[in-house]
Amino acid sequence: MDPIVVVGAGHAGAQLAVSLRESGYDGPVLLLGGEGEVPYQRPPLSKAYLHGGNASELPFRPAEAYAALGVDLETGVDVTALDQEAAAVVLADGRRLRYSTVVLATGAEAAVPPLPGTALPGVHTLVTRADADALSADLAATDRLVVIGGGVVGLEVATTARKRGLDVVVIEATDRLMGRMLGADLSRVLLDRHRAGGVDIRLDLQAAEIVAGADGRVAGVRLVDGVVLPAGAVLIGIGARPRVEVAAAAGLAVDGGVLVDQEFRTADPRVRAIGDCAAVVGPDGVQRYRSVQNATDQARRLAALLTGALPVPAAVPWFWSEQAGCRIQIAGDLASADRYLVRAGRRGGTTVFGFRDGVLVGAESVDDAASHLAVRTLLAHVPPTFDDFLDPDVDLRDLVARSRSATSLSG
Ligand SMILES: Cc1cc2nc3c(=O)[nH]c(=O)nc-3n(C[C@H](O)[C@H](O)[C@H](O)COP(=O)(O)OP(=O)(O)OC[C@H]3O[C@@H](n4cnc5c(N)ncnc54)[C@H](O)[C@@H]3O)c2cc1C
Repeated sequence: MDPIVVVGAGHAGAQLAVSLRESGYDGPVLLLGGEGEVPYQRPPLSKAYLHGGNASELPFRPAEAYAALGVDLETGVDVTALDQEAAAVVLADGRRLRYSTVVLATGAEAAVPPLPGTALPGVHTLVTRADADALSADLAATDRLVVIGGGVVGLEVATTARKRGLDVVVIEATDRLMGRMLGADLSRVLLDRHRAGGVDIRLDLQAAEIVAGADGRVAGVRLVDGVVLPAGAVLIGIGARPRVEVAAAAGLAVDGGVLVDQEFRTADPRVRAIGDCAAVVGPDGVQRYRSVQNATDQARRLAALLTGALPVPAAVPWFWSEQAGCRIQIAGDLASADRYLVRAGRRGGTTVFGFRDGVLVGAESVDDAASHLAVRTLLAHVPPTFDDFLDPDVDLRDLVARSRSATSLSG
């Protein structure tokens, strides 16, 4: 029997291998990872791990656990192509391995702007543990970091570098931080928090060139206005590009991710894709979520689909980030909201609730974990309406209780 071959041993791939077993699949599973490491968590790379964390805390589980589950884990192997006719993956070392189903879980890589100097020593992107180790070594050798891009990874690294005592400048091309994910209210809160923490944030500004010093290493970032910001290290954090090269080379449809249906199927039903590399075509358009929750939930759902196990209900999307001493949490589909309401949390912090056609569709919070958790429950049951929130004293716990009981009555 040919194995289910999983290409990419990150959050989605490793979870899929484990979930296949949990769903009762007893056939062969081959998990192939391009990095030479046991599958590990990425979020700490810009947070605790970069601040001197312990590498042994990164893996999801030890290598032996995969063997114990009967999952054949091979690391340090790149899949270069699919031979769909022969139903085989082609590896960089020339091997061809047959599959019954192949799942692309190849994640994303850092986007790099078309600027002179991005290849200079001392210029970094951050996706892998090796990237974090290289960045960490350079942070130890300088006192000035320039971050290009005010998105999640850039801002988390800026926070960590400040904690490590560096002078940090973040340059952001638009007029706000985390603009792709956060609304204007919380974006402003975040800006104030970063500035209060001593990070020098320059909005509406673009880098023109990364410049070298006499030693050939990075020495600074020249801005479009001609000013040069001195830097001993530069982090490029302008976003991520899904890794679609294997799918694209196989002629599968790609558009900001490997296009799949809601059962994660490409046009070839034996080729599926999940996690950061996938773009799911649904009734409301194409959804691309890049988060740990999305990767692990898609993996669980695909395992259930492949094994005929009980269907795993579609999860409420959520995301978190830790930066500038605060915790940002986003739940649901705030981008589709047409009306917003800002409330202080019961135990502090702030949450912005978003409504579409009068019904709650998502929320974003700073330091308001209780509201975030309540929203996740509300969205998973019967979401309340805008009118339910009109009483400023309305307690989210009451709305949660009502929403749960409405679900059980309708179910
Ligand atoms: C620094 C950092 C901080 C983050 N912080 C957060 C956070 O706080 N909260 C959050 O929700 N999300 C966070 N994320 C995003 C989160 O890590 C991703 O959404 C998640 O890892 C996606 O899982 P994945 O399995 O799709 O991809 P990945 O975990 O990236 O795994 C993909 C794997 O596939 C391998 N691969 C690619 N191509 C091939 C090939 N051809 N052959 C073999 N192997 C291949 C790659 O080497 C990689 O190991 C962070 C990401 C980074 C980089």
